[in-house]
Amino acid sequence: MAGIYIHIPFCRQACYYCNFHFSVSFRNMDAFQKALLKEITMRSAFFKDALHSEASEGIDTIYIGGGTPSVLGTSELSKIFEQLGSHFFLENTTEVTLEANPDDMTVENLLFLRQGFVNRLSIGIQSFSHADLRFLNRIHSPGQAVESVKNARKAGFDQLTIDLIYGIPTLSDTTWKDHLARAVDLGVPHVSAYALTVEKKTVLDHMISKGKAPPVSDEQCARQFDILCGFMEKHGYLHYEISNFALPGHFSKHNLSYWTGVPYLGLGPSAHSYIQGKRFWNVANTSRYIACINQGSVPADGEILSPAQELNEYVMTSLRTMWGCDLQKVEENWGSHALKDLEKKASNYLQSGLMMEKMRHLVLTRKGKFLADGIAANLFTIK
Ligand code: SF4
Repeated sequence: MAGIYIHIPFCRQACYYCNFHFSVSFRNMDAFQKALLKEITMRSAFFKDALHSEASEGIDTIYIGGGTPSVLGTSELSKIFEQLGSHFFLENTTEVTLEANPDDMTVENLLFLRQGFVNRLSIGIQSFSHADLRFLNRIHSPGQAVESVKNARKAGFDQLTIDLIYGIPTLSDTTWKDHLARAVDLGVPHVSAYALTVEKKTVLDHMISKGKAPPVSDEQCARQFDILCGFMEKHGYLHYEISNFALPGHFSKHNLSYWTGVPYLGLGPSAHSYIQGKRFWNVANTSRYIACINQGSVPADGEILSPAQELNEYVMTSLRTMWGCDLQKVEENWGSHALKDLEKKASNYLQSGLMMEKMRHLVLTRKGKFLADGIAANLFTIK
C-alpha cells in the first residue's frame, strides 16, 4: 500500500512560530490549484511505475496538510479528490485526513467534508487560552476552538485529532492540565502535542532575540511533557509516538506509514516523497512551482539513501514510537556488525534508565522520550 500527501500553501494569518511553507496572500490560489491538478496527472504514472506491485493495492491513506487546507472552498476540494480518483486506485483507501483551523469549521463546511471523501479531521487548536493564542498569533479564539470540535462531532467525524502546544511562556502548568482535561472532556480520541520550538528566522525567533518576547524554557517544556504523558496515560490514551496520543483504534494510519517505511507521494510546493530508498522534495516556492508545472516539469530535488542513512532513519523514527527499534530487523537488514555497533552505543542509555530493552526492541522510557532526538543522533551509524 502507499500514501499521498498534498501541501496547500496558504494561511489566513502567519503564526509567529511557524516555519512551514505558506503564504498569507491568496494571489496565486487559482494558479496553484490548476498546477496541483496537473501535478497529480504528471506524477501518477511515475508513482505507479516506481511502486510496481504495491500500486495494485492502491492508495491506503491521503493527508491534505499545509498551510491551511480548510481555506479551500468545497468545490476546490472536490476537484482535487476527483482528480486523485481519476489517476489513482482509491477503492481501498481507508483514511483521508484534512487539516483544518477552527475559524474555518462551520457546520456547513464540515457536513460537506463528511459526506464527501474526508473521514478524519486534524484541527489546529494549539491552545484553549487567549494569552497563548495571542502569544502564538493564532487567528482563532478559545471559543472557536471548542466549537470546532463540537461541530466536527455533530457533522459525524468520529476520527479526529487536535494539535496542542506546550512550553509557551504564557502557559502555566495548571493551565496546561486544564487544556488536556478540556481535550479529554470533549471526547477527542487523538491528540498531537508539541513543545514550542523556536525555529530560525521565524517571527518568534526575531522577537526573542530583540527582547520583545520571553525565551522558551527547556525546564518548562520538560515539566509539561511529563504532565502530558501522565495525564493522557491516566485517561486511557496510548502514547504511541513521542508527540502522539490515541485511544485504542484511533492511531493515525498515515503518520504510522511515515514511521514504518511505507512509500508515499508528496504533491504541492515543499511536499516530500519517499519511494523505495529514494527521497525527494518539491521546491518550497509556490510561484516557481506553478511556473515549472505549467512548463511540464515537476520542480523537485532528491537523494538516494545509502544503507547507513536508511539505518539512521530507521533508528530515529522507530525510537520515537512505543514499539521501539527492532534489533532483529537491524540485524536482518543491515547485518551483525550494525547490530553490535547499535547495541554498544545503546548500552549507556540502558544503564542510565533512558532506554529499556523489551523482547529484542530498544524502547525509550518517558525521560528518554523527551531527549529522543539527541539519543537517536548518538546511536547513528557514521558512514
Ligand atoms: S496555520 Fe499552520 S501553517 Fe499556517 S502559519 Fe499557522 S502554524 Fe503555520
